Amino acid sequence: MGVKRLPWRIPATESLKKANTLVFNEEVFKRKSELGGSIEVVCGSMFSGKTEELIRRLNRARIARLKVEIFSPKADTRYGENALVSHNSNFIPSTPVENASSILLLASDVDVVGIDEAQFFDEELPDVCNVLANRGVRVIVAGLDMDFKGQPFGPMPAVMAIADSVTKLQAVCVRCGNPAMYSYRLVANDKKILLGEKETYEPRCRTCYLLGDR
Ligand code: ZN
Repeated sequence: MGVKRLPWRIPATESLKKANTLVFNEEVFKRKSELGGSIEVVCGSMFSGKTEELIRRLNRARIARLKVEIFSPKADTRYGENALVSHNSNFIPSTPVENASSILLLASDVDVVGIDEAQFFDEELPDVCNVLANRGVRVIVAGLDMDFKGQPFGPMPAVMAIADSVTKLQAVCVRCGNPAMYSYRLVANDKKILLGEKETYEPRCRTCYLLGDR
């Protein structure tokens, strides 16, 4: 009764053509992002490759000719302004911002927003991510899930809760070689935020983290 039925089996060449349309047609990609964006979280301990993964995803978006903007908290100025740097010194330019809500003002007319060192942002960050995603932006958030005490870090747990997808990366325990999820602090200092590199922290598995200096 006028209902157009699909053939029950599409010939191989036709289905291949359709698959290619879905994967490679940029229009399909764009139309999808106009309907709704998404929030992706890349988290883990120090030296787990979070920033490398963020850079990888952002570079792929750039190759797809999407407009990409990257933000990091102003508090984190380990490597100087305007650069998103990973430990293996891959870098892409990023904009340091005072607080999470400034991202909303600066991220107009973009397809993809990357947020690095997200644990240092304020508690507005989950709302900011939601506003962007609801506007159709793909938001990729990278940050430490736990501080050196093994406690959830800053706005990270809240962002993880509202995310479409969460990728938890693991480093390698420097003591035993097992997968590591803790950032063990090597220096005696109780401050929550202590920026530093290899001399300040080492990645450890649960057992070696609990053993401490023993
Ligand atoms: Zn270990």
